[in-house]
Amino acid sequence: MIFGSLSTTLTFVRRSAPIHTVSPEQTFEEGKALGARLAAEFPRGVVVLLIGPLGAGKTVLAKGIARGLGIEEPVASPTYTIISEYRADSRLLHHVDLYRIEGREQLENLGLDDIIAGTGYVLVEWGEKIEGWLAAPAAGPHFRVTLALASDGGRDITVEEVAA
Ligand code: ADP
Ligand code: MG
Repeated sequence: MIFGSLSTTLTFVRRSAPIHTVSPEQTFEEGKALGARLAAEFPRGVVVLLIGPLGAGKTVLAKGIARGLGIEEPVASPTYTIISEYRADSRLLHHVDLYRIEGREQLENLGLDDIIAGTGYVLVEWGEKIEGWLAAPAAGPHFRVTLALASDGGRDITVEEVAA
């Protein structure tokens, strides 16, 4: 049961040095590299929270991650659909956007706990809204990717692997 645990005792296992990107293409490429790493290290899938303000590049990065996972189909922004599903060979990806989701009831009605408990990769834009759920030991490790607007107009991207 992932719901119910809002205590956050999170252990940071690995944190990358921030990656600085100066174009959406470069952010996409960084996403691709991360997707390939996830495919190699987590063959059964893993949850990736994408955290950063509107326009930070969460969707651009998610598109790159999907490509790195081997998904050739173009990935759209899920802002209106909230959850989109993609498949490539045996890989399953859910791309979730919680931008418009407010409060616990709306969150719980999405069926995200089943998606997270299942196998496959889950990319969650505005992922901080569900971070508390992932603190339960049963949730397993997840990634937390933070995107910040840099003063030169680029983006600073930090990747953390977190164990519950
Ligand atoms: P979010 O999903 O975080 O709201 P998007 O990925 O939809 O953001 O949009 C990011 C916007 O910022 C795009 O219009 C993109 O072209 C622009 N952009 C400019 N520089 C970068 C960069 N270095 N990385 C990612 N996006 C960038
Ligand atoms: Mg987006």
